[in-house]
Amino acid sequence: MNKERKLIIAGNWKMNKTVAEALDLAAGLKLELANVKEVDIVVCPPYTALSEVSKAILDSNIRLGAQNMSEHNVGAYTGEIAAVMLKEFSVRYVILGHSERRQYQQESDALIARKALAVHGAALKPIVCIGETLAEREAGQTEQVLATQVRGSLAGLDKEQMVETVVAYEPVWAIGTGKTASPAQAQEAHAFIRRVLAGMFDETVARKVRIQYGGSVKPANARELMSLPDVDGALVGGAALEARSFTDIIKNSI
Ligand code: PEP
Repeated sequence: MNKERKLIIAGNWKMNKTVAEALDLAAGLKLELANVKEVDIVVCPPYTALSEVSKAILDSNIRLGAQNMSEHNVGAYTGEIAAVMLKEFSVRYVILGHSERRQYQQESDALIARKALAVHGAALKPIVCIGETLAEREAGQTEQVLATQVRGSLAGLDKEQMVETVVAYEPVWAIGTGKTASPAQAQEAHAFIRRVLAGMFDETVARKVRIQYGGSVKPANARELMSLPDVDGALVGGAALEARSFTDIIKNSI
């Protein structure tokens, strides 16, 4: 597939996989995906498996991501994890502002923006998630919600940092529900997000930023979604938990 930007496909393992299960999955992916060069491949295990998965994918084409990170560098923040700790395990990417964290931990755009700055401060790359709920889409508020999230969650980044940031468009109604945005809905939202980025930064920056689609991506719909002009990859939940389906998503996207 000939794309303007290199595809980036990331697996968000969420709160799944013991260390033994994570190692099993990592070994399967390493084997199956060894020859893939056309796509940036990222896996985001839970914190408890980062150390072992990091060793397991050493010298492979699979990069490591974390699912969250503190905005602070060190100190009395019980339960939090700092950038320097992630770097010990060669983490390269950090998912920020996933809709589950926005919903269950009340993460705000302002907090996500501070975390994004901390991620860049450690020379890591954030994957910043945005997306509208079903109620917001049905009320005709999708563009307004996306514009607010883009402007708020990416506030304060400079142009160089923005180019090194991945945006994940994940309509909340499509996450874990089996409902996927139609190609037209996905393309429309991605193109809109890119226009907002052009307004915030400039056209050159907006053309370079990779925007992933997330929400019930499966082997059967990956090719069509990844072929859309403004879709530059996928953030995959459920289908990233098995080597076969994650591998097929990637191979079907090439
Ligand atoms: C996600 O949680 O980021 C996600 C897209 O999940 P799923 O693929 O299961 O819809």
